[in-house]
Amino acid sequence: MKREPDGQGNTMHRQKKCPACGSEKRVFERLSEEAVKLGAAPPGFKMPYQMERRLVGEPKAQAEQPMGAKVPVVAVVLDICYDCHCVYAPEIMTGKAEKTPEPKKLVVPGQG
Ligand SMILES: [Zn+2]
Repeated sequence: MKREPDGQGNTMHRQKKCPACGSEKRVFERLSEEAVKLGAAPPGFKMPYQMERRLVGEPKAQAEQPMGAKVPVVAVVLDICYDCHCVYAPEIMTGKAEKTPEPKKLVVPGQG
């Protein structure tokens, strides 16, 4: 597993190989490449099996935080091993979001 901090408090955690069998082939990554070849998606397209972003904390406590306070955030990308069907996380992004008057401006690692 490889950790790549961006120097701004965000870290990308990459797992290139299936932890069960060591294969580097993933079902959704392969199908995404096929979609590009068929013209069903633009070059560089990648659709994961599942992706979830979350603020980590207790909503009541977060509501009481002052503007500018930080909240840990995590984004998890799941895919399925092409060879043994193990579901694992090839990418996990962790970081901190800043509380702003407009919640839409929360910065998610990898998109900020
Ligand atoms: Zn596997």
